[in-house]
Amino acid sequence: MLDTLVAALRSLLPYDSVITDPVRLRTYECDGLTYHRATPAVVVLPDTAEQVARVVRLCNDFSVPFVARGSGTGLSGGALPREDGVLIVTSKMRAILEIDLDNRRAVVEPGVTNLAITEAVRDRGYYYAPDPSSQQVCSIGGNVAENSGGAHCLKYGFTVNHVEACEIVTPDGDLVTLDRMDPGYDLLGAFVGSEGTLGIATKITVRLSRAPQTVTTVLAAFESIEQGGQAVSAIIGAGIVPAAIEMMDALAIEAAEAAVACRYPEGAGAVLIVELDGPAAEVERQFAQLTEICSGAFELRVAADPAERAAIWKGRKSAFAAVGRISPAYIVQDGVVPRTSLPSVLAAIDRLSAEHGIRVANVFHAGDGNLHPLVLFDDAEPGAGERAEVVSGAILDLCIEHGGSITGEHGVGVDKSRYMPRMFSEADLDTMQLVRCAFDPRGLSNPGKVFPTPRLCGEAPGVRKGVHPLVESGKAEQF
Ligand SMILES: Cc1cc2nc3c(=O)[nH]c(=O)nc-3n(C[C@H](O)[C@H](O)[C@H](O)COP(=O)(O)OP(=O)(O)OC[C@H]3O[C@@H](n4cnc5c(N)ncnc54)[C@H](O)[C@@H]3O)c2cc1C
Repeated sequence: MLDTLVAALRSLLPYDSVITDPVRLRTYECDGLTYHRATPAVVVLPDTAEQVARVVRLCNDFSVPFVARGSGTGLSGGALPREDGVLIVTSKMRAILEIDLDNRRAVVEPGVTNLAITEAVRDRGYYYAPDPSSQQVCSIGGNVAENSGGAHCLKYGFTVNHVEACEIVTPDGDLVTLDRMDPGYDLLGAFVGSEGTLGIATKITVRLSRAPQTVTTVLAAFESIEQGGQAVSAIIGAGIVPAAIEMMDALAIEAAEAAVACRYPEGAGAVLIVELDGPAAEVERQFAQLTEICSGAFELRVAADPAERAAIWKGRKSAFAAVGRISPAYIVQDGVVPRTSLPSVLAAIDRLSAEHGIRVANVFHAGDGNLHPLVLFDDAEPGAGERAEVVSGAILDLCIEHGGSITGEHGVGVDKSRYMPRMFSEADLDTMQLVRCAFDPRGLSNPGKVFPTPRLCGEAPGVRKGVHPLVESGKAEQF
């Protein structure tokens, strides 16, 4: 059957856009979370939305699952392929189709990188606000699917706040447009963050923002993480909403120093990067308040020009990759806690780390309580990977206990689906599944992601009576 499907795909797409060579297929076996791997049966690289729609229709004809992939930087295994399925990669769909500054909008294809949008309008005083640290490479289609965030999303909101419309290929192969202005249910809102389970975005209309008049970037060095955490609460408590508040602990600073020599103050237990932006008078007033609040810092550095600002951000933006300098392997965790719980959760992470003999470096979007603990281990040491997994999972439990979430921006994917029942009741999960079934009754669009059990559409939601047939047959695992 696969041969027939491949022949049909080749009749739709140029020869080079259908990959079946086992060596080339391996390029696509994982995303940024390399722990999960699967070689796709076939990879296609369409050039147009119409081609995506035809590929999806073929998958329906053959009852074959399909997975969308942008740049493959996801950190939750969302773009993990199916060995029995088609991987639809959008990296050839990279055109910026329209820039409409009068309406502050741009229309782009899904493979366009996040930063390319800003680069296209920067010299006219505009930018695209959501700024994941991976923005040089990640695709806007991936951002929509993950509802991605970034350092500046505290003030400006996540991807969902900056998408006006999406043309999508539905899981049965129709091309439709979901528009923010449509009356009725907010289907665009449902699609953003759906991790490829409700269809494939083929054209995205994003909102462009005016570049602020003034930007002031401050680096505050504290002796301890508690002092840094208190400063964060005090800043928000004073009514200041900075464009960004980022925090790094001593281990994360050590890694960044080793990787990019960012020259953060020596001996800091934590550094806080606070960026204020807006009209000059407002930024000046907030800066005065900020320096007072951060009076406990042993060093306060203010960027004098864009080069100094870039130097301050360099350490933070490289933090994930930088831990590779101090550890052979690591897990990038992503969870959320209420801001006020930051000190107690960080103390509990410290205890977990000591108890299991696993180092944890903390980097976080402190303003919105989005933690990124980097759980370090040596994969050559027997049992270390398992201990790191235990610590990583226990951190998510801490987030839930404190009223937070198992993901702030990296999504659920395949990695965290098993944690969904810890956060949601069966009724919650069944309700979400009903939404999914409304879009994808055959369960072909990125199956096995987000939800812990592949419940089939048409199965009555409600209290489960006995073991699920798929679990019984060994085809699915129930967590
Ligand atoms: C070093 C590093 C730093 C990062 N920093 C951040 C950060 O600050 N903030 C943040 O939020 N994330 C961050 N990430 C995670 C990642 O970059 C984002 O999730 C990003 O949005 C993924 O985009 P991508 O194009 O790589 O998507 P992929 O990894 O290819 O796919 C991600 C998901 O989107 C789906 N998908 C892809 N394209 C489409 C489409 N056109 N239509 C429908 N579904 C689609 C896939 O099926 C998958 O479920 C970081 C990752 C790395 C490696």
